[in-house]
Amino acid sequence: MGVTTPRLAELTTLRLGGPPARYVETETEADLVAAVRACDEAGEPVLVLGGGSNVVVADDGFPGTVVRDVRREIVVEGETGTCGGASIRVAAGTPWEDVVERAEAEGWVGVEALTGIPGSTGATPVQNVGAYGQEVAGVVSTVRVWDRAQARVRTLAVGELGFGYRTSVLKRSLWRGPDAGDEATPDEAARVPSRWAPTPRFVVLDVGFQLRLGTLSAPIAYPELAALLDVPVGRRAPLSEVRAAVRRLRARKGMLLDDADHDTWSAGSFFTNPVLPVALADRLPDGAPRYPVRSPVPESTTGPSLGAVDPTLVKTSAAWLIEHAGFGRGFGLPGPVGVSTKHSLALTNRGDGTTAALLDLARTVRDGVRERFGVVLEPEPVLVGVSL
Ligand SMILES: Cc1cc2nc3c(=O)[nH]c(=O)nc-3n(C[C@H](O)[C@H](O)[C@H](O)COP(=O)(O)OP(=O)(O)OC[C@H]3O[C@@H](n4cnc5c(N)ncnc54)[C@H](O)[C@@H]3O)c2cc1C
Repeated sequence: MGVTTPRLAELTTLRLGGPPARYVETETEADLVAAVRACDEAGEPVLVLGGGSNVVVADDGFPGTVVRDVRREIVVEGETGTCGGASIRVAAGTPWEDVVERAEAEGWVGVEALTGIPGSTGATPVQNVGAYGQEVAGVVSTVRVWDRAQARVRTLAVGELGFGYRTSVLKRSLWRGPDAGDEATPDEAARVPSRWAPTPRFVVLDVGFQLRLGTLSAPIAYPELAALLDVPVGRRAPLSEVRAAVRRLRARKGMLLDDADHDTWSAGSFFTNPVLPVALADRLPDGAPRYPVRSPVPESTTGPSLGAVDPTLVKTSAAWLIEHAGFGRGFGLPGPVGVSTKHSLALTNRGDGTTAALLDLARTVRDGVRERFGVVLEPEPVLVGVSL
């Protein structure tokens, strides 16, 4: 379906980015595949865009086609108490919050802490979205994709998705290497964009989830959430209360979209939390947070929501490093761009910002943290036509 071409600033939560060369909205799976396939065959860049909440797009726009899947569909494939839950299949374009809301209403357990994450369901496996002790890796069963390298539809089982902290095979295919279908892997540190970027090699068509049935949440794994709910870590709480509590926490941090609040004109966390070998983490100051690094697949459905701890790695807090390197909340403000006044990990557009200014801010923060702590922060959003 062809429609008027909007600027990417109208399609992204940062509200930044110039126009694409072409813009297409697709209403069926066949149209989505055809649109991507036509671009690939013509050798034209393609950006499959969901809610635009995890992209930073160049001020001069995108020299290719932006494709938006506007389907909204949640199909219940099976629901049985005896074999452990509900199987649902969700069309990629469906807003993620529709799934979380439906789960609360139906008593499907496992996504309640993922409320308030903007964007589409199709993008959730791309970076294995996570928050407040849950990740989609814990509930995804399969992902049906259009594999652009093999020009065919494939069903990827959870074991093939290579989920990790804010990553998956899908996200890694944005860089050259085996996941992008290249034999040679360039030096990891060099991170050369693959021929598929800024869209993964695998375009998500729909996502299958397997959710337990119940009125109580998965065991609460996040101390701040447990404290707000007034329960110990590891205890369950009513689904509706968990969802409401997470939304309260997110609102306080500017992590719930609000048109009227410039602190939410962001791409969420701009940097991922660094995962460091234990020896490197030992060199951080005593006060720096040190969190266990867990396997993304839960050990069981009865224990805490996350998986087994990897003893060789430590995750620290990018927000702590940023604040202690001198870039606290509100850094850069007043100005067209700045660090959110509610969360030091969110870089925000105050209304008259540009992508160029936002990236200058990101470089200042990244370089300052590297000089102070020797840790190189990695951006979380997908950079479209720009680099750090
Ligand atoms: C206020 C705010 C809070 C946030 N909080 C969190 C959080 O708590 N946890 C978290 O993990 N993230 C968070 N995010 C980041 C973001 O919301 C998620 O990464 C989300 O899943 C992105 O979805 P989207 O549809 O907006 O993706 P887009 O920004 O549209 O696209 C991002 C990437 O995914 C690709 N993509 C999109 N759709 C498809 C598809 N169908 N198939 C293949 N690739 C696709 C795009 O090509 C692009 O490479 C937050 C963002 C904001 C603005």
